[in-house]
Amino acid sequence: MQNTYSVNEVKGIINAGGDIVTDKPISVLLTDSRRITNPTASLFFALSDRRNGHEFIADAYTAGVRSFVVKQRPEVIMADANFLIVANVLTALQALATYHRNQFNLQVIGITGSNGKTIVKEWLYQLFCPEKNIVRNPKSYNSQIGVPLSVWQINAGHNLGIFEAGISTSGEMEKLAAMINPSVGILTHIGTAHDEGFESPEAKLKEKLQLFKNCKQLIYNHEVLLNYKDELSDIECFTWSRKLNAANLYVFSETAISDKYYLRAIYKEKEIECLVPFRDEASIENAIVCWATMLAMGYSPADADDRIERLSAVSMRLELKHGVNDCSIIDDSYNSDIQSLEIALNFLSQQNQHYKKTVILSDIYQSGLQQDALYKQVAQLIKDKKIERFIGVGVDLDKHKKYFNLPETHFYADTAALLQDIGKLHFREETILIKGSRSFEFERISRALGQKAHETVLEINLNTLLSNLNFYKAKLNPGVKVMAMVKAFSYGSGTFEVANMLQYNKVDYLAVAYTDEGIALREGGITLPIVVLNPEPLAYDKLTTYKLEPEIYSFTLLDEFVKYAQENEISNYPIHIKIDTGMHRLGFEEYEVETLCDLLEINKYVRVRSVFSHLVASDNEQHDLFTLKQIGIFEKAYAQIEEAVGYSVIKHISNTSGITRWPTAQYDMVRLGIGLYGVDAAVPADDAGLKPVATLKTTVSQVKKVLANDTIGYNRNGSLKNDGMIATVRIGYADGYLRAFGNGVGRMLVNGVLVPTVGNVSMDMCMLDITEVPGGVGEGDEVIVFNEQQRIEQLAAQISTIPYEILTNISQRVKRVYFYE
Ligand SMILES: *Cc1c(COP(=O)(O)O)cnc(C)c1O
Repeated sequence: MQNTYSVNEVKGIINAGGDIVTDKPISVLLTDSRRITNPTASLFFALSDRRNGHEFIADAYTAGVRSFVVKQRPEVIMADANFLIVANVLTALQALATYHRNQFNLQVIGITGSNGKTIVKEWLYQLFCPEKNIVRNPKSYNSQIGVPLSVWQINAGHNLGIFEAGISTSGEMEKLAAMINPSVGILTHIGTAHDEGFESPEAKLKEKLQLFKNCKQLIYNHEVLLNYKDELSDIECFTWSRKLNAANLYVFSETAISDKYYLRAIYKEKEIECLVPFRDEASIENAIVCWATMLAMGYSPADADDRIERLSAVSMRLELKHGVNDCSIIDDSYNSDIQSLEIALNFLSQQNQHYKKTVILSDIYQSGLQQDALYKQVAQLIKDKKIERFIGVGVDLDKHKKYFNLPETHFYADTAALLQDIGKLHFREETILIKGSRSFEFERISRALGQKAHETVLEINLNTLLSNLNFYKAKLNPGVKVMAMVKAFSYGSGTFEVANMLQYNKVDYLAVAYTDEGIALREGGITLPIVVLNPEPLAYDKLTTYKLEPEIYSFTLLDEFVKYAQENEISNYPIHIKIDTGMHRLGFEEYEVETLCDLLEINKYVRVRSVFSHLVASDNEQHDLFTLKQIGIFEKAYAQIEEAVGYSVIKHISNTSGITRWPTAQYDMVRLGIGLYGVDAAVPADDAGLKPVATLKTTVSQVKKVLANDTIGYNRNGSLKNDGMIATVRIGYADGYLRAFGNGVGRMLVNGVLVPTVGNVSMDMCMLDITEVPGGVGEGDEVIVFNEQQRIEQLAAQISTIPYEILTNISQRVKRVYFYE
């Protein structure tokens, strides 16, 4: 029951030109040449995104893809490939999705809004699961590309579709609406996200309403659409409100009861109730939206209450963390369907740190496919991704185990059976994907394989890291390379995890401070060229063994390296020459360049790969004249060196702030450091293009009442003005939360409220004044040290330092967890 169209059919549907060499059945739409699993059945859309999709045609062809939708034929001849030629590749993808959607007359719910779309979609999925076969966007695939790929999954086995649509600028919704074609609409929370893409907030809302043009029914917050009567004239509206009795669902009472939230409302002139298993503001609003939707769709209040009470948290993100016996764990234990399995397998195959890869998978529910077809497809995916070991959990997988032909397979009836056997599976030095349907409770497996956590974690959002990288790439002149600075554990953010992401997304170079850091990256499977900024002569042996490239900054260093090369019969070894143009830290001085040239000219042991220098104040206007002087000295020096060696070298001088402020000094490469991690003094804090990647969070270990005359912490330094409450949290100076933050200097976010420290910071703990937190604070509550809202820059300002120091101070005992959507 998988969808297939012949290439010829597709050609007609998207109205393409070009000849068909061999007509083939197409079942997979492909937009990323790195994600090929079933090449012969794939149709590759060469989308011109930031990187021109047409450059990837060759990669896809090499991987076996033979059908392409393109703007123009590639110059290289691929005689056995089909090229469908269209004016706009994205429009063609969308036209195909629209056509496909209209082959089915299942009920479809369309969701839009600024926040909560994905949660509402996933919760409705949980709520309607018992009687429906549901197709929905995988994760938050809700964009111009995500929606067509989502809609493509509809097949004859589904009887309900739930799709979210996200837009960032005007003109986009009409296209999404055509593809989704919903009969029931839901408008979730409206906030300020993406306001900049529209003339006004009203224009944004109008654009969003386009999704509901052909809907029969619309569910929304009564207050939000008061001024949009015309747009809604033909739609049956179901509204909810926390203020107005005029709404269909009027929520008139809200009470927090321990970790739940009790709602009472008037519906059809009767009082009804609902218990939400969450307490935070956003979850409550999303739950009300779901409640209204269930009622609007004809479910009884009792049924709605019963199901909402059992809603579970939604995590759309994969979590990558360290596990037992040096394993890496990819935790995706919240849902399982074939699309998100594919996404997770792609992430697994990006990991290079271990040779061995293992998948633990549960039965998949609600695919809309016959079991036989489903598990055949799953087995094929697993095989294509070259997984060594497969562990299946559930009776359905067990029934279909014959399809899984891998070096090692195990099948268990349920999660408990696997847990009982877990010692016998000898997990060691491998990357393990844990992916299961909700009901299998795979978080138990994840807990069994994860290392014990001290409950302070540094979360790194790899998607944000990637979008920061692209933010800077967009500022580069054509052809300029990127060296990503991953010294000092990637500014505290990790080692191979960050480097892996950068390698997969094609930066050109990496740089570390010391040889050992470079070795750790090589052992984590990083094959990119790596520069060592501070090579120790004693480690030349290791440096060359691991193919690391030294920065050469002095005659002594050059002399020693050349001697080493000579003795070990190494020739043409790549080196990077550092010129000191004003930092007065490392590098050849201007007057030394001539002698340096004499030495390099006749030298066959090394080859100058690059010549570079470092700006001392690229972000500071006050020193712009000095920066210009540095640039002048640099230009003279590299010209001399290039002339002496007789070949051209890579030239680079810009760090993060230099990229933004000195576009003329990009030369052949830039060295991107702290900007990758979301901090750049030269970019305004409200520029949405750059976001902090790291969140440091901890938890409350105890809550206490203290009186005005009590003292708090070592040396009796802290006290409260009046009687009040304090919370002890699990972070101290040994974690990198410096003593300087004590006694009210530092602040943390507790339940969304910024509260000051009180008393001295201890080694492993510190205390917060939580007297003013409304609703109180409980033991185990989450506490944010820094994130997008309370930024690293603010912490740095509190203790008169720079963000670099805050980040790199976070100690290695703080567990790093990586998220990927
Ligand atoms: C650390 C470093 C950089 C990166 O600087 P940012 O300000 O973090 O971008 C660039 N070049 C050299 C030589 C460095 O040591």
